Amino acid sequence: MALPTVAIVGRPNVGKSTIFNRIAGDRISIVEDTPGVTRDRIYARGDWLTHEFALIDTGGIDISDAPFVKQIQEQAEIAIEEADVIVFLVSAQEGLTDADEKVAQILYRSDKPVVLAVNKTDNPEQRQDIYDFYALGFGDPIPVSGAQGTGLGDLLDLIISKFPEPKQEDEDESVHFSLIGRPNVGKSSLVNAILGDNRVIVSSIEGTTRDAIDTKFTDPDGQEFSMIDTAGIRKRGKVYENTERYAVMRAMRAIDRSDVVLVVLNAEEGIREQDKKIAGYAHEAGRGIIIVVNKWDTLKKDNHTMDKFETKIRQEFQYLDYAPVVFVSAVTKQRLQTLPAMIKTVHDNQIRRIQSSVLNDVLLDAVALTPTPSIHGRRLRVYYMTQVAIKPPTFVVFVNDPELLHFSYQRFLINQLRSTFDFTGTPIKIIPRKRK
Ligand code: GDP
Ligand code: GDP
Repeated sequence: MALPTVAIVGRPNVGKSTIFNRIAGDRISIVEDTPGVTRDRIYARGDWLTHEFALIDTGGIDISDAPFVKQIQEQAEIAIEEADVIVFLVSAQEGLTDADEKVAQILYRSDKPVVLAVNKTDNPEQRQDIYDFYALGFGDPIPVSGAQGTGLGDLLDLIISKFPEPKQEDEDESVHFSLIGRPNVGKSSLVNAILGDNRVIVSSIEGTTRDAIDTKFTDPDGQEFSMIDTAGIRKRGKVYENTERYAVMRAMRAIDRSDVVLVVLNAEEGIREQDKKIAGYAHEAGRGIIIVVNKWDTLKKDNHTMDKFETKIRQEFQYLDYAPVVFVSAVTKQRLQTLPAMIKTVHDNQIRRIQSSVLNDVLLDAVALTPTPSIHGRRLRVYYMTQVAIKPPTFVVFVNDPELLHFSYQRFLINQLRSTFDFTGTPIKIIPRKRK
């Protein structure tokens, strides 16, 4: 489940974010269109041939206030820490610079494979300019152009050839989950309280990401869980570890390894921008989601407090209408004992499979209830639906013309599925396809 990780490093302006966006591609994003949610383009998933990987733009993790040299040094250290393969990006336009050499010096200290790419090689003549970069000592420079999109295939071929052998994941039937949230919402306190209530069978397992430690435990019903530790828990005091964007990146990595994500909010502070970014990423990654409002003990409550809080959450996280909300306290332990069962239920819903025959009864009823729309005089026809994947449950809908299956009708079909089957806590994906 842990993806090989590629980090792009290089001095400012060589084109790191341009290359990052090229490789990460334009994935359709519901969340991005939601007002108030901006995307942090520092961490994304990419794929090439049959390989999936995680991609980090270290240039996006700016350590504010730090002087220039310190910045690129910290960014290179993040790459060394997080990546399986490092892409060292330089620019043919400006040629070899002192700053490039500074980056190189830090990378020498690492035993991680480094791939040297020369960006802004926009035309064949500029290919002559790449030879200077042999001096950096990282072997053959690969000419690329982020602007033109050329050379990326060769670069990706080389990157993939350097991926470590995938580790044989032992037969792990446990449900993986993580607690994600801003500093001080109470993640560590919740971790301790949850573990205190349950039987810990293995204290720690070496995670594939550098310092990730998974804690395995069983709940009183004997269900196994693996809790994925996140950055908030082990702080080693490096400067960049206290920056928000580094924390967001670490949270995204933990989400990628989770079946179910507990988005932890602080009842005292309400909902912040960073909460939305993280929840949005979990949603797009198709993970199971539970919204946990911690520090519930700190509020003066009346009969409406909970409803009001939930209404606010529903407004702020409209795309998470499927996520259950639970109000807890790590201090008084209120409702904490309900969490393991909830996590298990959400996981069950993530792996639920529905037979095609049953699905098509639902589809027939749905179309009878709300006739398909017409666009420019052409009516959408829906023929058949079948489930093609779990985690998240994904349904292909065969139609006369995929263009006609608009977001609103997709949403309607999703709601019909939700009202017929238990998909609480899991996103649902619809893929329109033309019937041949
Ligand atoms: P970063 O600071 O390393 O992330 O660099 P950016 O991706 O922001 O790019 C810096 C500048 O270089 C921008 O103005 C880009 O448009 C430009 N740029 C990026 N890639 C290329 C390229 O392949 N050729 C040319 N000519 N310009 C590029
Ligand atoms: P983290 O940074 O998200 O891991 O947060 P911590 O677990 O370190 O908690 C931050 C602070 O909030 C600590 O002082 C905790 O004692 C306090 N805290 C955590 N959970 C609760 C809670 O449910 N109620 C109250 N009143 N305080 C809490």
